[in-house]
Amino acid sequence: MENVIIIGTGCAGWTAAIYTARANLNPLVISGSQPGGQLTTTTEVENYPGFPEGIMGPDLMTAMQRQAERFGTRVEYAAIDGVSKEDDGAFTLKAGAREFRARTVIVATGASPRHLGLPNEKDLIGRGLTSCATCDGAFYRDVPVCVIGGGDSACEEAFFLTRFASKVYLIHRRDELRASKIMAERVLQHDKIEPVWNSVVTEYLTNDKGEMRAVRVNDVVSGGESELEVECVFVAIGHVPNAQFLASAGVEVDEGGYIVKRNGSSATNIPGLFAAGDVADHVYRQAITAAGSGCQAALDAERYLTELGAD
Ligand code: NAP
Repeated sequence: MENVIIIGTGCAGWTAAIYTARANLNPLVISGSQPGGQLTTTTEVENYPGFPEGIMGPDLMTAMQRQAERFGTRVEYAAIDGVSKEDDGAFTLKAGAREFRARTVIVATGASPRHLGLPNEKDLIGRGLTSCATCDGAFYRDVPVCVIGGGDSACEEAFFLTRFASKVYLIHRRDELRASKIMAERVLQHDKIEPVWNSVVTEYLTNDKGEMRAVRVNDVVSGGESELEVECVFVAIGHVPNAQFLASAGVEVDEGGYIVKRNGSSATNIPGLFAAGDVADHVYRQAITAAGSGCQAALDAERYLTELGAD
């Protein structure tokens, strides 16, 4: 029986591991299909405190893993597909035929940006296709870019990108933004932002180096097609929190599928099951806030175990 199992190896998971390992809880981290989380899909991270020259996302994650392992964190590779709380109060985690048992569980499985599902998008991630303006916007100075989406995220991204880009096309499938009024007004009044209404991107077009060159856009009202030259596409059509595997455990989620945390802590509606990082956060979604919430979850799990009287 483990004291604590941490599911997920992004900033939240490794930070929870560092703290629980240093508390002598001998944590087991379960790493899934995308080890290292969202930061492994980005290039340079310039906003993580402590790295004045920036650090590559994958390097930051490797450093966090080494730091967690230095204090005795163990790692297993498995895709957890079910969690249940047993009569004895402990948790059983299933990964196919494999089973793990733990007194506490920290869920740090993150959220995956939703994409359009176009054929070449996997090859273009990091080569002109991204879902994070805060991460990648500064690389596209004085060139045209576009944002896809019409919600608060899309507007926030578009507004942020005006600091760098020469022009920001905001491509939305309807003629009205979903975003809050204040956000929508701010965006529509900005002279660098050009809305492209009633339009969907049907193709990402590349240059001879395989980098983003332009998007093909279909006007859903007129049926007309056009090409927009952009060096980067920021997709902001929502995120999908990776919490579906918790459904059988009865973990409370909000209408977007994000885990609901209680009392300003990392506690969920299931005692002993804690949440950290983007799987429970649709607002901040930053590496540093995920790391901070991983620390919170570790401290909460430690207190819970103390109350249980576990060794
Ligand atoms: P969202 O509100 O769900 O908006 C997603 C946008 O993407 C919508 O405009 C939607 O179009 C569009 N979309 C969805 N699927 C699409 C597809 N396949 N092709 C083209 N367009 C597609 O998501 P979000 O903007 O990430 O926001 C999520 C939550 O976080 C919201 O509650 C939001 O208010 C909140 N948030 C708040 C802030 C803030 O307050 N500062 C910042 C960011 C996010 P339709 O409009 O036609 O459905």
